Amino acid sequence: MDRDLSDDDSVVDLSFEAESPLAPPAELLETLPSCDWVLQGDRHQIFFPPSETTGRPQEQRCWSSFLEHRVPVVTEEVAREALLSFVNSKCCYGSAAAGDLVILELKQQNLCRYRLETFSESRISEWTFQPFTNHSVDGPQRGTSPRLWDIKVQVPPMFQEDTRRFQVPHSSLVKECHKCHGRGRYKCSGCHGAGTVRCSSCSGAKRKAKSARRCQMCSGSGRRRCSTCSGRGNKTCATCKGEKKLLHFIQLVIAWKNSLFEFVSAHQLDCPGELLAKARGETLFKDENTTVYPIVDFPLREISLASRRGISEHSAALASRARVLQQRQTLELIPLTEVRYWYQGKTDAYYIYGTDHQVYVADYPERCCCGCTII
Ligand SMILES: [Zn+2]
Ligand SMILES: [Zn+2]
Ligand SMILES: [Zn+2]
Repeated sequence: MDRDLSDDDSVVDLSFEAESPLAPPAELLETLPSCDWVLQGDRHQIFFPPSETTGRPQEQRCWSSFLEHRVPVVTEEVAREALLSFVNSKCCYGSAAAGDLVILELKQQNLCRYRLETFSESRISEWTFQPFTNHSVDGPQRGTSPRLWDIKVQVPPMFQEDTRRFQVPHSSLVKECHKCHGRGRYKCSGCHGAGTVRCSSCSGAKRKAKSARRCQMCSGSGRRRCSTCSGRGNKTCATCKGEKKLLHFIQLVIAWKNSLFEFVSAHQLDCPGELLAKARGETLFKDENTTVYPIVDFPLREISLASRRGISEHSAALASRARVLQQRQTLELIPLTEVRYWYQGKTDAYYIYGTDHQVYVADYPERCCCGCTII
């Protein structure tokens, strides 16, 4: 819509201009949804919005519907089945106790496991060389080398780690081989170039000690062919593979890496945390994007805090040295049941964890000690 220009309008309003030429105007960025993380806070480049402001409105998630996602209750029958199949998978556990023990109590808790995976790309450059085999040289005369992050490469599938090396365009130069000084070969160190070495059998004496017969190993010559160089006296330079020249160039090394942050909600049961970290869970929520935002309104406060902590930890660890390509956060329900039992006058407990009913038992009553591991 056009409007009349008054005198006042001839003064250019600079209030919306960026303060630094490195930073594009914020208004411009607002129109680019994929860039909404670029300028936050003090106009510094960061990969995540500060945790105080979420950057974009939180989608209203109805957590109660997620939590209604019930994991089936572990019954006495299920608890015994799980123990029996665990015992049967171990060579030194007897199954009689598992069948006979009296189950006294089942205490089931559903734990929450939060996972954040961040897939990032880092780039470094290094000088390297290879034998020069007379191909054309892509040196600085063909143009300036692109900046490290301007080189376009094929990205592997997300969350698949990989390391690849690329030759930086226009960075090549040919030099004489430093190892052989451009000869392509060098003198054999085994025979100092002679091609033969002293016979080890007669020590060069041509005949064995206290024997009139000539040495059979060297046919009486006192010398044998050098095995290092097969009698040639010299060796092909391993550095230039005999090409005499080396092609030096800048190599771009790209590493795609997955960082993992994991948190399992607190529980009072005596089951090792490393088992719960590996346990199979029921997915409640999965969120994947170029940048994910902290879960702020989850009913379990420790989960919301863990999400915020994980995101800021990854941000701090990666921001200065890598580019984040994709993030994924998942929330899973891990069922954990403590089974208290009585067997031969003693009470003890074992644990059933994960949706696939894995068993952890610290002190099984019927065990021989052939040395197989418990877990
Ligand atoms: Zn030799
Ligand atoms: Zn000999
Ligand atoms: Zn060489």
